Amino acid sequence: MSPQPAGLSLPSPDRLQIDWSDGMRRQYPIKQLREACPCATCREKHSQPAKPADLRSLKILTNEELQPLRIVKMQPLGNYAYNIAFSDGHDTGIFTLELLRELGEQVAS
Ligand SMILES: [Zn+2]
Repeated sequence: MSPQPAGLSLPSPDRLQIDWSDGMRRQYPIKQLREACPCATCREKHSQPAKPADLRSLKILTNEELQPLRIVKMQPLGNYAYNIAFSDGHDTGIFTLELLRELGEQVAS
């Protein structure tokens, strides 16, 4: 059986920590998780070539965008994935355990 998350915690508000059943401990910057969101909308965004900045326009950030990104909710889906809701209102990302084992960085447990 592949390793399962044994415990989730937030060592700091912008970092998620997962202790895995095989003893591995990984930490994930919330920003990195958000950028790695595998949902169709985000994948489409990633595959589009970056547009050159339009110097005639000015992007005004919304209040949500100015807030540091947080995890609002993280819910297991069966024993294969997690649904993560972020504080920017995005909550359609399904993070498989496989993906979570690749993201983040291993820290000493
Ligand atoms: Zn997404």
